[in-house]
Amino acid sequence: MALILLQFSPIVEPAVFEWSRHVPRANSSTHSEASPNPKPRTWDPKARCSGPVHPFAPDARFEYNPLPVPSTRPAHEAQPWTQQARGQAEDSPINAISGGTGVSGEQRGWTVKKVVILGERKAGLVEVPDPRPSEDWVLVKIHAVPMCTEYKAFVSGRKIEYLGHEAAGEVVAVAQPGRVQVGDRVVVMPQYPCGKCELCVSGDYIYCENSHDFSAFVGAPEGRATYAQYILKPSWLLPRIPDGLSYERASLAMCALGPSFGAFDLMGIDAFDTVLITGTGPVGLGAVVNARFCGARVVAVESIPYRVERAKMLGADAVIDPRSEDALRVVRELTNGKGVDKALDCSGALAAQRFCIDATRRKGQVTFVGECSEELQIRVSPDLIRKGLTVRGSWHYNLSLFPRIMQVIQESPVIEHLISHVFPMSQVQKALELSASQQCAKIILKPWV
Ligand SMILES: [Zn+2]
Ligand SMILES: [Zn+2]
Repeated sequence: MALILLQFSPIVEPAVFEWSRHVPRANSSTHSEASPNPKPRTWDPKARCSGPVHPFAPDARFEYNPLPVPSTRPAHEAQPWTQQARGQAEDSPINAISGGTGVSGEQRGWTVKKVVILGERKAGLVEVPDPRPSEDWVLVKIHAVPMCTEYKAFVSGRKIEYLGHEAAGEVVAVAQPGRVQVGDRVVVMPQYPCGKCELCVSGDYIYCENSHDFSAFVGAPEGRATYAQYILKPSWLLPRIPDGLSYERASLAMCALGPSFGAFDLMGIDAFDTVLITGTGPVGLGAVVNARFCGARVVAVESIPYRVERAKMLGADAVIDPRSEDALRVVRELTNGKGVDKALDCSGALAAQRFCIDATRRKGQVTFVGECSEELQIRVSPDLIRKGLTVRGSWHYNLSLFPRIMQVIQESPVIEHLISHVFPMSQVQKALELSASQQCAKIILKPWV
């Protein structure tokens, strides 16, 4: 298949992109023909979402005063509970099955490292009291931290208390017998859903409306960030990593592959489909991997040269520049004039969302996973009724799909290209600068180096 790669201007810093003029006018009475828009819409990757910093980010924010806690020993030194986890310490203050005996890290004065935003484009490490498990919540020693949209807070200097929501690691302490054991290698699922409501029980925990009050449950504020050495989590949100699979690869089961996997499951993507993917940041690149794994043909839309090349590396059959006035025409030429079967927006840009609707064939499907709180104009008759389009939003994936995501990670021949960089957490400043530059795919932090 011919690769459609239109001309790009070299971009060092993300620019405000001119969107195709082939965005139909809002008052257009037809939907099958694209109409020239007198005012080209823009797709500004720096302003893709005016909503929450990330879907998994906690709502609560506060001004963090980075006052490093003096530590009498290096944080990387083996902690008593990790020794206990290895069966080397009988007198650990946190017993593997203790029912809550012992004293807290804060009382002991022991600390662990986590990342904080220190100011505009400035981040660093601080030491905070170590968290401890209770009831069915367990302590996980984090070994891989995929970076997501935390760079937005880094760029703005907005101080968020708990950075990160993606991780993979090892269970090192439990408070009671339960679903996981000390030594289990696990993926850390996002948020703190109740585990009891219908949505949680059915596996769609991401939509839970009764999430735990972390601090109230734990009795301390620390232990919920993933840009950190340890995290506390309910055991049922810690699916096991198959033997032989690295923490780095397994951590792709979060935002790299997760949102698109859930969306594709809802849309029923298969080898008969041509799938449009708008925006190939880490989520969109993961979508390319998932779509190709299902055997679908992929038409991607992206303007940043690094990510264009990465999308091609991962198997995109065509990559279209959204700044081209011919973008919609190119999609139709690639699909015998009909439009794609299914479309997924990973950008959160209004123009891209609209493009998905216009580029999808009659009776096709469109799903949005890119976050955006601005208003998208959808015309009920031409877009929905007469076109027979199914339009939906999707957030993550049902927990029951976890084994299939692990299968993608284990069997996809291109999965290694989804991770572009691995940084020690001690170099988080450098890692966030790279993440903000968008000259990357998924970046992984290693908390213990
Ligand atoms: Zn729930
Ligand atoms: Zn994420």
